[in-house]
Order: sequence, then structure tokens, then C-alpha cells
Amino acid sequence: MEDRFGRVINYLRFSVTDRCNLRCRYCMPEGKDERKPRARLLTVSEIEKVVRAAVQVGIRKIRLTGGEPTLRSDILEIVHRLSSIPGVEELVMTTNAMRLTQLAVPLREAGLCRVNIHLDSLDGAHVRALTGKDCLNRVWDGIVAAEQAGLLPIKLNVVVVRGYNECDVVEMARLTLRYPWQVRFIELMPLGEPAHFAMGHYVASQETRMRIEAMLGPLTAEPAHEGDVDISYRLAGAKGRLEFISPVSHAYCHRCNHIRVTADGRIRLCLLRDDEWSLHEGLRSCDPVGTLAELFSYAIQCKPHGSQLAQGIFPTSRPMAGIGG
Ligand code: SAM
Ligand code: SF4
Repeated sequence: MEDRFGRVINYLRFSVTDRCNLRCRYCMPEGKDERKPRARLLTVSEIEKVVRAAVQVGIRKIRLTGGEPTLRSDILEIVHRLSSIPGVEELVMTTNAMRLTQLAVPLREAGLCRVNIHLDSLDGAHVRALTGKDCLNRVWDGIVAAEQAGLLPIKLNVVVVRGYNECDVVEMARLTLRYPWQVRFIELMPLGEPAHFAMGHYVASQETRMRIEAMLGPLTAEPAHEGDVDISYRLAGAKGRLEFISPVSHAYCHRCNHIRVTADGRIRLCLLRDDEWSLHEGLRSCDPVGTLAELFSYAIQCKPHGSQLAQGIFPTSRPMAGIGG
């Protein structure tokens, strides 16, 4: 469905939980989250109804995210139900990979197409400092399991954080020389309580790119692949590709094609704005799918053009884990 700025909205990022087994400094720092009352999460059948409604207004791609989506004990059922909905062409997941050694094969069998895996460094101490856990080996095993299960292509999300991993981007980029993976460098965004941390540790994509090129040589822009939103690059002789996701330095609002649903059942039209629309009344109605489809249709027409970061206004209501990255 087209919004009032001519953008075709066909992609839904669905946060299925706001809980996580890691405590990334910029997302859910240790101690901040535990004090808050837990939101009631949508049930599997509520999630299914919401997605059926979203498909009616033209959503074709669904990303399951969180928090950590694999922490839901019913995650396989969620994947199975959503992948069986006619009109869902692509069902993908963003995960920290901590549970992928057990879950990669069952997720693939349940209908998941592929995964984006979050890994900020190949230095174990730096990963511990960023996530609060000694988890590098476990995440690496999860990546290998995902690759073996055929959740391809493997995409790695690297959030670049000054003082923690800004130099590690070179080793992360070097991975593409050995593996056919896509390594994506993401600018740190100011969201929720950790916003001040993000502002103090931000690194622009331009700096990350220069650091990589200084050590590994020039990057060549790739011809666009089908479905690509961002330009990707390749190091000479590399098997994989690199991407730079720059929501702060080069906002891509004019080509934003997605909306979000939060773990507690609210439509969020822009990651970087706090406005939300509750789905609960629609879920309680006698024709939930029809009512929710109307709500989606109306909400999409209200999708704002972009964030207000340039005016110094950033969202404060929730951290990334509650919205769904
Ligand atoms: N737990 C999963 C994970 O870490 O991949 C899924 C949820 S997480 C919120 C999704 C993505 O958001 C991750 O790749 C993470 O690095 C990214 N993220 C979290 N907080 C962020 C922030 N403040 N700025 C930029 N990216 C962020
Ligand atoms: Fe958890 Fe992902 Fe947030 Fe890290 S970025 S705390 S893994 S939800």
C-alpha cells in the first residue's frame, strides 16, 4: 500500500518480545530493564491475526525481532503459522544467535527464510563489554549453525560504538574475504533510556568506511541485487558484501518501506518517533482481521515523513528492544 508520500509500505517488523538474554549497552543496559513491569506479550493467535490483517493492506515481508525473539518458547509455532499465511513472501528474523545452535534447523523447517545476526566484534573482551556476557563463542556457533541450516544469506549486524568496537570494524569486514556473508555496519541511534550513551558514542558510517578502506583497500559499489534497499560494497576478491546503515548521518526516510508492531501490540509508524497506535481494541472486535486491516490502512496514511533527529528530538518512550530493531 502506498502512503501519502508515495512510499510503498510492504514490510512489517514485528517485535515478539521485549525480553532479552543479553544486555547491550546501547539497547537494554544491565539493571535498567529489570525494574520495569513486564508488558503482556501478544499471543501466537493474536500475532497471526495482526499479520493476516497486515497482509490485506499489502505487507509482504515480515521480520521477527525483539528483544530476543528466540526466547519465546512458542517461537517455532509463530514461525510456522506466519510462514503459512498466503501473501507472506518473506519471513526473516533478527537475533543475537545465542539459541541458534538448537533452533536454526527447526526454525528453517518451520518456514523461516533467513536471519540477521547481531555481532559487534570478534574480540571476546569487547563483546563482553558491549553485551554484559562472555558470549562470543556461543554467538559464533550460532552463526555457523544458521549457515548449515540454510538460513541464507547470513547477514551480520554490527553496531559501531566509539570506545568499544570502532576499530574492530576492520576484522568484521575481513570476514567477507572468507565467507559469503553480508556484514552491515549500523550507526548508533539515540533511543529510550540509553539515548545519552548513544549520543556520546556515535560513529558516522563515513568514518567506519574510511577505517576499513585504510586497512583493507578500496570498496567497490555492487550492482543492485533484487530486493536491495541499501547500496552494498565489496572488498577486492571478497566472497561477501558490506553495507553501511546510516540512519543518523544519511536518513533514508524518503525510501522507508516499513512499519513496526511492538511487543505489547502497538503499531509504530517510525522507529524514531514515539507515536503509537494500539491494536488491542481491534483484536477484541468481532472481526479482528478486518478491523485491524482498516486500522493498518488508516495508520499507514498517517506515517510521518521522517524522524526529528535533525531538530534534536529523539524518541524516549522505549528502548530498541521494546520497539523491535
Ligand atoms: N536481539 C536481537 C538482536 O540483537 O539482533 C534482535 C533485536 S535488536 C533490538 C535488533 C537490532 O537492533 C540489533 O542488530 C541491534 O544491534 C540493533 N540496535 C539495538 N539498539 C540500537 C541502537 N541504539 N542503535 C542502532 N542499532 C541498535
Ligand atoms: Fe538484546 Fe538485541 Fe537489545 Fe542486544 S540489541 S540487548 S541482543 S535486544
